[in-house]
Amino acid sequence: MTCPACESFKQQRTSGAYRFQCLECCTRLVLSAYPSKGQASAMLAAIERFPLSPGREQVLESVRLCLEKRRSAGPKSTTP
Ligand SMILES: [Zn+2]
Repeated sequence: MTCPACESFKQQRTSGAYRFQCLECCTRLVLSAYPSKGQASAMLAAIERFPLSPGREQVLESVRLCLEKRRSAGPKSTTP
């Protein structure tokens, strides 16, 4: 189940389309604001205001997972 905005993002990474009812889009949107916490929370607030959005908790969870994946995939690890 992929939304048109995610589809166009996969084809061209510069696509700025987001659908607030799509968890992947919301995650992408919040991640695009990182590392600015202020911007990220502004994005979350906007997502929250959208009636059909997946919800703040779900988006945050998804964002956390993506950040963890990114960190563990990174070239240098700070954990011994
Ligand atoms: Zn999407």
